[in-house]
Amino acid sequence: MPDALNLTGIALTVEQGKWKRLAKSVAQKSLAPNAAQVDQEGSYPRESLKAVADAGLMGLLIPKHLGGPGEGILTYAMVLEELAQGCASTAMVVCMHMSTLPMIGALAQGSQIEAFVKPIIEGRWIGALSMSEPGSGNRLWHMDSFAQKNDKGYLIDSFKSFCTSCGQADFYVVPVRADDKVGPNELSLFVIEGKDPNILPIGKWDGMGLRGNCSMPIHFKGCQVPEEARLGSPTCGFSMLFAYSLPAYQVGLATVYLGIAQAAYDAAVAHVKKRIHSDTKQSLAQVETVQRYIAEMKMRVDEARCMVYRVAQMSDNATVLFNELNSADLLDEVIRENPDDPYFIELAQLKFAVNEIAMEVTGKAFQVCGGTAYKRGHPVERLVRDARAGSVMAPSDDSLKLIVGRQILGIPQPWDGEQRR
Ligand SMILES: Cc1cc2nc3c(=O)[nH]c(=O)nc-3n(C[C@H](O)[C@H](O)[C@H](O)COP(=O)(O)OP(=O)(O)OC[C@H]3O[C@@H](n4cnc5c(N)ncnc54)[C@H](O)[C@@H]3O)c2cc1C
Repeated sequence: MPDALNLTGIALTVEQGKWKRLAKSVAQKSLAPNAAQVDQEGSYPRESLKAVADAGLMGLLIPKHLGGPGEGILTYAMVLEELAQGCASTAMVVCMHMSTLPMIGALAQGSQIEAFVKPIIEGRWIGALSMSEPGSGNRLWHMDSFAQKNDKGYLIDSFKSFCTSCGQADFYVVPVRADDKVGPNELSLFVIEGKDPNILPIGKWDGMGLRGNCSMPIHFKGCQVPEEARLGSPTCGFSMLFAYSLPAYQVGLATVYLGIAQAAYDAAVAHVKKRIHSDTKQSLAQVETVQRYIAEMKMRVDEARCMVYRVAQMSDNATVLFNELNSADLLDEVIRENPDDPYFIELAQLKFAVNEIAMEVTGKAFQVCGGTAYKRGHPVERLVRDARAGSVMAPSDDSLKLIVGRQILGIPQPWDGEQRR
C-alpha cells in the first residue's frame, strides 16, 4: 500500500514510510537541538550520531542476507533528507558512512562479516570513505597512492586530502592502487580500523560550513593490514566504487543539499509570517515580492526532491542488474564499456542540479529573512554556509558538467585514457 507521506508521486511502501517517520523524529528530537552548537564549536556531532545509530539507521543499506535491514537507495534518501533538515553536518557524516555500505554489503565475506558488518548493523561502527588525494583533488577516479603486498598482508601508505570523520571514524574504506605497477584506476579497497595508531589526522577542521564534519586531511602512514582487510579482488575497486558506492554517494550528497534547501525554505516561511513592520502593521508575508520568493523556493525544493527520488529509484533498479552479473570482471566490463548509459548521466547530473537548487533556495531564504539572517547563529546563515560545500565536493559540479556533456556527445572520459596494466 502506498504511503501518504510521499510528495513526489513515486509510490512508497509502508515500510519506507516507517523509516522516514523514524528519521524525522530522530532529526527533530536529537539532531536539530544540537545543530547550532555543533556549527558554532565545529565539534563532531557524537551525540546526534548516537541517536541515529540507536534508531537502527546506520546499517540501513546492509543486505538482509548479512543480517541488515536490506533497504535500498530510495529509502536511504528519504531518511537522509529528514536527518539533513535537523543537522546538515550530522547528515554528511551519515552520507559518507553510508557510501561505504553498498560495497561492504556486496563484497564482505568470511571473517569480514563478523569484523565489519556486525558492528555496523549494531550501530557501533561509523565509517568514512577516504578517496580524495592531494594530487588529483576532485578527480576521484585517479589515485596516486598504492598498497604494497608483503608476507603479513599489505602495507598502505596513503595521504588523503579530505576525509569526513577524520580521526573520529571506527573504520575507513580506503581505495588505493593495487600495487606500484598498475594504472591510477586499478584500485584495491581496504577497510582500515580507526584504532590503527598509524592513522594520522592532519590539523583541525575549521570549515566555512558543515563545521561538524572533521573533514581534515589524513595520512595512513604505513598502515599494515592483513589480507582480510581487502574487500573483493585486488583490482575490483574502480568498478565497485562506480557501481555500488557512487549511487549512495551521489544520491546521498544531493539528498543532504535537498534537506538543507527544505530547512531554509521552512525557516523563511516561519520568519516572514512572524516579522511585522510597525508602519504598515503588516507581516513580510503580505509583501508581494516575498510571496514570489516563497513560491519560487517551494517550486525549486519540489523539483530537487523529484529528481532525488527518481534517481534513487533508478539506482535501486541498477543495483538489481549489477547484482545479477555476479562477477567482478563482467561488472568491470559493463561499467567501462557503457559510459553512455542514461543512468550514469542522471546520477552525475543529479548532484549539480540539486546543489544549484540548494544555493538558490538558501540565497532566497537569506534575502527574505534580511539582516536578521546575516547575524551569526541564525539558522539560515548556517544553511547558506552549509550549502556551499556541495559544488566543490568531488567530483566538483564543474567536472560533473563536463562528464555529462562528454557522455551525451560520445567523447571519451578522462578515466578511459588512463593507463591500465
Ligand atoms: C566538507 C567537505 C567534506 C569532504 N569529505 C570528503 C570525504 O569524506 N572523502 C573524500 O574522499 N573527500 C572528501 N572531500 C573532498 C572533496 O570530495 C573534493 O575532493 C575536494 O573538495 C576537492 O578540492 P580540491 O581543492 O582538491 O579541488 P581541485 O581538484 O583542485 O578543483 C578545484 C576547482 O577547479 C575546477 N576543476 C578542477 N578539475 C576540473 C575538471 N576536470 N573539469 C572542470 N573543472 C575542474 C572546479 O571548479 C573545482 O571546484 C570533502 C570536501 C569538503 C569540502
